[in-house]
Amino acid sequence: LTRMYAPLTALANARVEVMSALVSFERVFEVLDLPPLIVDRPDAREVPNIGTGVAVRFDDVSFAYPAADKVSLASLEEVAQLDSRESGAVLHGVDLDVPAGSMVALVGSSGAGKSTIASLATRLYDVDEGSVSLNGVDVRDLTAESMHRTVGLVTQDGHLFHDTVAANLRLARPDAADEDLWAALRRARLEDLIRSLPNGLDTVVGERGYRLSGGERQRLTIARLLLARPSVVILDEATAHLDSTSEAAVSEALAEALAGRTSLVIAHRLSTVRAADEIVVLEAGRVVERGDHQTLLASGGRYAELYRTQFAGPAPAGAPDVVA
Ligand code: ADP
Ligand code: MG
Repeated sequence: LTRMYAPLTALANARVEVMSALVSFERVFEVLDLPPLIVDRPDAREVPNIGTGVAVRFDDVSFAYPAADKVSLASLEEVAQLDSRESGAVLHGVDLDVPAGSMVALVGSSGAGKSTIASLATRLYDVDEGSVSLNGVDVRDLTAESMHRTVGLVTQDGHLFHDTVAANLRLARPDAADEDLWAALRRARLEDLIRSLPNGLDTVVGERGYRLSGGERQRLTIARLLLARPSVVILDEATAHLDSTSEAAVSEALAEALAGRTSLVIAHRLSTVRAADEIVVLEAGRVVERGDHQTLLASGGRYAELYRTQFAGPAPAGAPDVVA
């Protein structure tokens, strides 16, 4: 399922200029049976700048995936699961504030709705009830182009186009000089690898090109994010299956990507969760707890349970902190 919708997330995040260059873009959505692109309202405005205040707000948000999406679920098993569900809603009355400059961590078991929140925050879908706003404005009133400049989304399986490293990076900033690309690659801990390739920045990556590992792909999308310099970063760590060397490099690159920015992180790593200003615990589409690590741990509720089962398990070697 994640495989099916992660490329869509990446596509929705690509710059609008790039999208319009793809003549048959709408056709792609038809063929893949994906929801159509959300179109700007005629009077849509740019994301305003805010100094302080709330950068991302979910106000009483309820959401169910559109029916067409459910039909495209891969296995019969999944369809059966959908049928047995009482209601199609995935999120129920979610309230969430990410104050400018802060880091909010979203935790919860698989299927709780965390990635759905990431999709709604980047307006991949529109909510059924309530509202999602960015810098104080409902996302439905904003231009997609200005939203994608303001909010960067990083997922575990970063989508790359079958093109050169340089072209994949310049999606974020078409006028970037080669030195800017190298600087971003350095911060994303990918400079040495790309320099070691015979064609350097001109190496073609992707399906039929040079095969980057999962961690390398992710670091390349982080380099792209560093070039784009969005003020808000949404990070979906998803389920990491990275080897320990790659894990450490990705962690360092992510630290670069999050530094000094507003972030909403779907966290699987204890180090990320503990660094958050606020932790929000999601269960079956509802916020069940929120607070900081110590307070939540002490209260002995759902977070404490997740902590025992998910975060305090064997951590990958090289992870910065393993024990609380
Ligand atoms: P989490 O990220 O917390 O594991 P998700 O947000 O991915 O949870 O999923 C929440 C629920 O929504 C799950 O029941 C999942 O099966 C369903 N879901 C996720 N993506 C889609 C989709 N594209 N179409 C239909 N249902 C989906
Ligand atoms: Mg998820």
